[in-house]
Amino acid sequence: MDVADAAFLASYCFARYWVPKFFPSLQPAFPDARYPDFASIETSAYQDRAREAAAAYLRIQHMGGISVSDRLCITDKDNKKERSLHHIQRDLTEVGDTYRASLLELSLRSSSQPRDQQRLAYHLSARADSLSFSAIPFDSDTKLSNRTLQVAMSLRLLEPILPFSENLPSTLRLQCPCCLSYGAGPQGDGAKQFLASKKDVDHWGYHAYRCYVAGNPARTSAHHDKIALIWFRLLRHAGFIVKYEPRSQVLNSEKRPDVMIEHNSGKKEHLDVRTCDPLLRGSGTPVFTRCSETPGTAADLGANFKNKSWKEIVELQGDTFIPLCHETPGFIGDAALHLLGRAAARFSSSNPQRNAFKTFWLTRLHVANIRGVAETIQQHMPFYADDPFSQRYTEEFHSHPSPFAEFFNQVPCASRPVSRNMRATFSESPGIVEGATPQIVFERECENDV
Ligand SMILES: [Zn+2]
Repeated sequence: MDVADAAFLASYCFARYWVPKFFPSLQPAFPDARYPDFASIETSAYQDRAREAAAAYLRIQHMGGISVSDRLCITDKDNKKERSLHHIQRDLTEVGDTYRASLLELSLRSSSQPRDQQRLAYHLSARADSLSFSAIPFDSDTKLSNRTLQVAMSLRLLEPILPFSENLPSTLRLQCPCCLSYGAGPQGDGAKQFLASKKDVDHWGYHAYRCYVAGNPARTSAHHDKIALIWFRLLRHAGFIVKYEPRSQVLNSEKRPDVMIEHNSGKKEHLDVRTCDPLLRGSGTPVFTRCSETPGTAADLGANFKNKSWKEIVELQGDTFIPLCHETPGFIGDAALHLLGRAAARFSSSNPQRNAFKTFWLTRLHVANIRGVAETIQQHMPFYADDPFSQRYTEEFHSHPSPFAEFFNQVPCASRPVSRNMRATFSESPGIVEGATPQIVFERECENDV
């Protein structure tokens, strides 16, 4: 409803501004939706539309407060330039999004269920990623398989990955295929002392991601390494001289940074990626409790851990160390974001190109993150045990039809063909000459570019 209100109200205000410019006699046909004069609405030629616009404005104002009025202005703050219809609609939609997010946060904070504290920590971290689910899937960096997308969306929506209901038989417990631990039955799920413990095998995939009994190689290969590779390509695209997992760069140590930047001065920057789980228990106050109070705590803890392990030995040889911390739901650490800003500044001195660079690579970092988490969970998917019907439940789940088209991956990009002048894509060639400033180049995408 609020999405439709935002679209309609934006269109109405846009028409109210532009139509009388060409047809001044139509000015009375568009009463101001912000201060509805009902007498003028009744005499308006478009009284139904004017009434609907006033009602939509009141509903959006109810969600957003007094700030909504400013969002309807067609001109910008300096009254120099008219804003686009899309821009106004996005501003109004943001009011509804913020309202719904605050309602969700409030309901999770006021819940007495301990599991909801974990969900709140997950939700607050995931809000830092607004790009992955709005990315257009047109290359291998931005595409997800049907199953991976299904798991990633369940995680984002805080929905269980396996069917969960308190009405399921109490004997129907989940078992982890790695540590063989049993979770609590459906009625005992989320007990406070049990939550995020080693044996908390849950329906949401949280245990499946963090279980390290078998070494969790999937978390390294499908998640950590994929993010490190994106960082390598990102920095190379910006024009840095970079090496991926170089050997023998830290004196008297076997350590290998994930990525290393070499400067002409001989100085080196060692970068190491850490994937941080905000849903751990830890010692003292549980990590998920701290993350639900202060989003980004898990990334800070990860950065502290990496700095302790790396910083001193790297600085002793005259180099610097940067921890690249990615929380599993989406939050990215300050040091990593600062490095991205540096890379964008090196890429171009123009603000629009810097922003394009940041959006391009942040999208890929976030998609690599959600893909890595979903694939790790899929490889450690718990199963129902100790119940004669367990096989049926598991099979039902695994044969659950995907809501997406089977051939989703083969669907060609909807935006092709594009004009040479209409679409800018990045040429991701390595910038091997330090100091050179790569530019955005215009390329025509081929039909089967995946
Ligand atoms: Zn396990």
